[in-house]
Amino acid sequence: MTYRDHTKVVHIGNKVIGGGNPIMIQSMTNTPTEDVTATVNQILALEKAGCDIVRSTVPNQEAANAIKEIKKQIHIPLVADIHFDYKMAIAAMENGADKIRINPGNIGSDDKIEAVVKTAKERNIPIRVGVNSGSLEKDILLKYGGVTADGLVESALDKVGIIEKFGYDNLVISIKSSNVMLCVDAHRKLAEKTNYPLHVGITEAGTLYGGNIKSSIGLGIILNEGIGDTIRVSLSGDPTEEIRTAKTILKTLGLRKGGIEVVSCPTCGRTKIDLIGLANKVENMVQEFPLDIKVAVMGCAVNGPGEAREADIGIAGGLHEGLLIKKGEVVKKVPESELLDALRYELEHWNA
Ligand code: SF4
Repeated sequence: MTYRDHTKVVHIGNKVIGGGNPIMIQSMTNTPTEDVTATVNQILALEKAGCDIVRSTVPNQEAANAIKEIKKQIHIPLVADIHFDYKMAIAAMENGADKIRINPGNIGSDDKIEAVVKTAKERNIPIRVGVNSGSLEKDILLKYGGVTADGLVESALDKVGIIEKFGYDNLVISIKSSNVMLCVDAHRKLAEKTNYPLHVGITEAGTLYGGNIKSSIGLGIILNEGIGDTIRVSLSGDPTEEIRTAKTILKTLGLRKGGIEVVSCPTCGRTKIDLIGLANKVENMVQEFPLDIKVAVMGCAVNGPGEAREADIGIAGGLHEGLLIKKGEVVKKVPESELLDALRYELEHWNA
């Protein structure tokens, strides 16, 4: 049994997290929320990529009003991200937000938090209490001599305590830091002290390259220790890339089934086809298939066929051509220019 098997079950719209339920993948829109068309289009693209729960910022009344219209056109739960203005939290919930994310530390006085909790309670809407290393309170920074894992945990549990004081425990917690190992340490400490579901992410992780590496290391360690009920990979890039990375992390850790795994060789002097180009095209192409199989894209006729045979289906490159190998059997020899289409055809007609 892991930590996540014992967390509290929380319902977010049509999704259920905690208590050992499957780990949900989240992302966040980067359109102005009040631009309903742009926001809906981005959410639909995220849904198609495999996003389970989406978050949008609600900085003003127009954005809060837009939630009602956005909700009519999407199919996954929508979380309202609130900073500073407690009235926006209430407006977002009144317009149909499935969850709100607040940092009680920047919402203001207890009576404002109480007003938010009252609305959440009336509608049974979960609240995510989010604490970032960049917004730790001065007294905590002084007590711990700067940003520390213990400080993050104390800050988060303090905030949770404020909400519990108002009689509400439909909560999720997140603590985020761009310092990967500090974030790992903080999650270990937090998981020992609470059974609220944890939303895990490495915040401000960076660009596609650096962000993917940092998120994979941080989330990989935390998830592998049985911690985390929902995740977000934060990237300075297209949000759908976050989903792709998150799915790969979960699949690699054996925490999610489904989706095609692509293995490909690093190429060497034997490679006589554009293997790197082909592998990238294959990786993009397979995103649309819900099959739970392994596809190998190998560069040569020496090691390639053996590796390709271990996968469910594979390509082993030759001189401007390749062998298509399915379940260990060579299906046919295909010119290089037709390899991608030949593979696609096999996937479209897959009946394992
Ligand atoms: S599979 Fe063939 S082409 Fe690819 S790295 Fe190995 S030996 Fe080189």
